[in-house]
Amino acid sequence: MSDINKKPINIVLIGPPGSGKGTQGKILSDFLGIPHISTGDMLRAESATGSDLGKEIKLLIDKGYLVTEEIIRPSVINFLRSEVCKKGFILDGFPRSISQAEFLTDENIHIDVATQLQISDENIVIKRLLNRVSCIKCGCVYQQNTKRTAVCYSCGAQEFKRRAEDCKEAIPKRLDIYKSKTEPTAKYYEDKGVLVRVDGSGCVWIVEKRIKKALIDRCLIRD
Ligand code: AMP
Repeated sequence: MSDINKKPINIVLIGPPGSGKGTQGKILSDFLGIPHISTGDMLRAESATGSDLGKEIKLLIDKGYLVTEEIIRPSVINFLRSEVCKKGFILDGFPRSISQAEFLTDENIHIDVATQLQISDENIVIKRLLNRVSCIKCGCVYQQNTKRTAVCYSCGAQEFKRRAEDCKEAIPKRLDIYKSKTEPTAKYYEDKGVLVRVDGSGCVWIVEKRIKKALIDRCLIRD
């Protein structure tokens, strides 16, 4: 499965928090040789600078709310229009609402495929979020209840952190926002004929295989 089309490929990942968008986005990015942009990571990076904007972002993220359109849209569009995206991109965390999806369309950002990671049992997602840790050095994500968390497989670091928003107080709000605002974007892309639904339950490599199969079926990559 390594013979990849030379055409640019623009991918959007849709799914509830904890569905594996970040993990699968990074895997796809390595496989396809195109950048993975996570708007959550982008916003957390700004928040970590401690700037006034960062503080404003942190307040919203930690409570499980979406950040304002004025903050998110310019950063996303600048990145998508930059040289690094000329061979395509994997967009994770944007669009999170119909109006953000329309914004991409209005800005002439073509989407080849919107991949929705579906997890029918909400308890699985909640468990994943409560156990999620990431390497402080490279950001690689693990589940705390696996022995992997002692040393990062990717960079060898031995310290891990949790996201402030992965807490019992913020998770219900985030899941509500996903259902009411973000999930309708799947229908938006379905109507445009570019949606693929992928079962996001199970281990990382099984979900990876499902996504790649969906891309092959759509003739976006070759087997
Ligand atoms: P994520 O890492 O994708 O779960 O995003 C973490 C948080 O960043 C979200 O809960 C929102 O507060 C914020 N965020 C990420 N992407 C967006 C977006 N497209 N629009 C508004 N807020 C966003």
